[in-house]
Amino acid sequence: MTQTLSPDAALFSNEASDEPIAAPATPGRLVVLTGPSGVGKGTLLHRLRQEHPGLYLSTSATTRAPREGEEHGKDYYFVSRERFEAMIAAGELLEWAEFAGNYYGTPRQPVTVQIERGNQVILEIELKGARQVAQSFPAAFKIFIVPPSPEELERRIRDRGQDDEAAITRRLERSRVELDAADEFDLQIVNDNLEQAVARLADVLL
Ligand code: 5GP
Repeated sequence: MTQTLSPDAALFSNEASDEPIAAPATPGRLVVLTGPSGVGKGTLLHRLRQEHPGLYLSTSATTRAPREGEEHGKDYYFVSRERFEAMIAAGELLEWAEFAGNYYGTPRQPVTVQIERGNQVILEIELKGARQVAQSFPAAFKIFIVPPSPEELERRIRDRGQDDEAAITRRLERSRVELDAADEFDLQIVNDNLEQAVARLADVLL
């Protein structure tokens, strides 16, 4: 498959680009993992990947500032708004959305490569992006992570202590919208007990 890539598109590929892609018997599977901010999507996936390092998670691009401990190229590709808008214009993003004042998006090329190889790719994204993926890839499997209660979700967002009050308010407003959309998903997993939620996710993803 031929793709037009911008000069620094290689930034978003963690693949050896000269590796030949053998046509797999069946294409890979795209899995979308969504749920309100603070529900613990990242923690669940982190735990699952510790146990199963082969699991392929897409690394998103964002204009949000890195939080303490986050690494460029690992947690996110941290880019400027100008760079992000150039990526949108060049069609380099599989989906993208503005969330709580920042852009977030999935670089298309690494995902395409994995799917063509017959591998599973997991996108941990918010609702607007999940809806775009559902439109473009109707076969994508969509999982929604549900908090034990709205109060518990607010406590988790506040306890994270990494966002200022304005960002917390935006995230809480957005979480109400996201929770109302849970029925659009193929599977809902309540993140009440971490071990049980990880086991549930493992059943579906492994
Ligand atoms: P955070 O700033 O807490 O890391 O992420 C905020 C929200 O953006 C989370 O709900 C997260 O799932 C979502 N997000 C992360 N990467 C992407 C992406 O590539 N696309 C979309 N649409 N949402 C994303």
